[in-house]
Amino acid sequence: MAEPLLSLRGVNFSYQNANGRIEALRDITLDIERGEFISVCGPSGCGKSTLLNVMGTLDRPDSGTMSFNGQTLADVGAARLAHLRARDIGFVFQNFNLIDSLTVYENIKLALLYRKEPERNIDARIQEAMDLVGIAHRASHLPHQLSSGQQQRCAIARAIVGKPIMILADEPTGNLDSENAAQVFNILKSLHAEGCTLVIVTHSPAQADQAERVVEMLDGRIQFTRRRLT
Ligand code: ADP
Repeated sequence: MAEPLLSLRGVNFSYQNANGRIEALRDITLDIERGEFISVCGPSGCGKSTLLNVMGTLDRPDSGTMSFNGQTLADVGAARLAHLRARDIGFVFQNFNLIDSLTVYENIKLALLYRKEPERNIDARIQEAMDLVGIAHRASHLPHQLSSGQQQRCAIARAIVGKPIMILADEPTGNLDSENAAQVFNILKSLHAEGCTLVIVTHSPAQADQAERVVEMLDGRIQFTRRRLT
């Protein structure tokens, strides 16, 4: 069998705060295949966002091992991890995380600047990403001049403009009305259909069930995983 894109083995992660230590991830072992579509579900506080942050190398595990795209991550320094993230991973968050003082175009461009994309490619890449999510007509608008659905589509354009191999989406439709939620979810599904590996945290059973595999979490652990029944 082909090597997984992302592999976690016995991963633990804890937060330290004034009241002590919170074990947010406990003994997580999970392989994500190239091109797979996974949903992560479970009650609030069970560790879903933490799992996504660790998968995306935003947080390092306390213990356990991880590899991504054939590379063991433990020995990779912070600067190289940041480069790997910018090149290979696209993030989409519930509250969009756009920069308010930058236009749609500039928000998307920022992702390419982090990637050190050659200047001659930048405009075409941004136009392509904006067209894909239907936001090109708002290129010069600021985030607060957009509807929630448009803001999230801009955030998706920012996530995909660098052509990442994996997209991590943390409740991407959590702040959207049902019509915009369906639109955003369909965009993410179409990215998966084109070959992108997709991991999405969702509270929506209807969305979760459309993934190829559902990871159900409880109290920082994977309770079970199940494959789609078709
Ligand atoms: P979920 O995404 O499933 O709601 P999280 O991954 O956000 O869960 O949180 C898992 C646990 O870690 C929860 O108990 C939460 O309160 C705690 N937690 C999350 N972020 C932090 C943080 N920055 N500092 C301290 N505790 C945190």
